Amino acid sequence: MENWIIRGGRVLDPATGRDGVGDVAISGGVVVEPGALREPATVVDAAGLWVMPGAIDMHVHLREPGNDEAETVASGCQAAAQGGIVTLGVMPNTRPPLDSPDEVRRLLARGEAAGLARLAPCPCLTRGRAGRELADLPALACAGARAFTDDGSTVPDEGVLREGMRMAAALGLAVLDHALDPAARGYLHEGVKSAALRLAGIPSSAEFLIVERDIRLAAETGCAIHIQHVSARESVALIRAARAQGLRVTGEASPHHLALTDADIPGADTRFKMSPPLRTARDRDALREAVRDGTISVLATDHAPHSAAAKARPFAEAPNGVIGLETALAVTYGILVQKGGMAPLDWVRRWTGGPAAVLGLGEPSLRPGSVADVTLFDPARRWTVQASRFASRSRNTPFEGWLLTGLPVRTFLAGREVFAVAG
Ligand SMILES: [Zn+2]
Repeated sequence: MENWIIRGGRVLDPATGRDGVGDVAISGGVVVEPGALREPATVVDAAGLWVMPGAIDMHVHLREPGNDEAETVASGCQAAAQGGIVTLGVMPNTRPPLDSPDEVRRLLARGEAAGLARLAPCPCLTRGRAGRELADLPALACAGARAFTDDGSTVPDEGVLREGMRMAAALGLAVLDHALDPAARGYLHEGVKSAALRLAGIPSSAEFLIVERDIRLAAETGCAIHIQHVSARESVALIRAARAQGLRVTGEASPHHLALTDADIPGADTRFKMSPPLRTARDRDALREAVRDGTISVLATDHAPHSAAAKARPFAEAPNGVIGLETALAVTYGILVQKGGMAPLDWVRRWTGGPAAVLGLGEPSLRPGSVADVTLFDPARRWTVQASRFASRSRNTPFEGWLLTGLPVRTFLAGREVFAVAG
């Protein structure tokens, strides 16, 4: 196994609080003291680069099995490596759904075969994602589940969810919820834009009433609840209040909800259709503030690939979702750090320790002895988003043509280089 010395980069390690120029050495797949390297090592000149623990994206849809045209485990892992993301929380809404130990083992085997990223399976809370009866949660946990979720939809039945949360708490795992009232029948945020496009809207209450219920159940069951892709400022306020009370409530924000509002939707362009929808500037600003102050401790893409044919359908009929693995670090860096003044160490924490805590993974670190998952990020590199060059099989990004600053340039998985930028 190759030895590496990553020399002279700005080392950002939230786990230790380290933020300073220095070297990171890798041997045998783990981080070692640079002075302890005995055999020859490949030297990487990291001057001007940020050296951080490999990013975790805890909200990713790999479409295999069932829709390989849109994404496979291998293509999604390749996109992750190119995006500086080392660990993927894998959502269960495949066909068949990820709701049995066999499916979890198959997923892990596919990830192992791809060899480009670490997978953290997040199988269904209920059988078939149907919301009626619980999946075999203890067996799923044994097979490698890192959390449970019916993502794509919430669990509408409060009794079923309560029972699931009790069981998840006993297993020491969190429940992740796509908090959206299943009765909501709209296509974008209910407001000026939905009226202009003459499309049914989804009010913010469709989200925050479910968030309110989830928090109540977290208090009742002691289960850790994680609100996925928070979109409404009222949800942010509820999460903030719950955390102040010491409840086990966390939330995540996606790059698109931090970057865009419904006013940015150019006509009925389905690359801007996702669930939950883009909301207003006030919601976007509340999300940015919550990520900065730690109320929202996780950044996650909700990478949701769809074929061009599926997204070519009319707005009301096209599937929800946008891809995000290859733009995630740059978009969030630009908004939060470059323009927003967030400390780089805090931004890195939202991509590492934040999601690791929800998934019960060890906090990623660059201290000697840690698994050498490392991302090198060039904070000065400017580039234009061209989906046609992505490793993802899908092209449904709302950021096409954007000029971004900040590029992942090298990714290491357990000491193995899984991506290096060309040129
Ligand atoms: Zn979702």
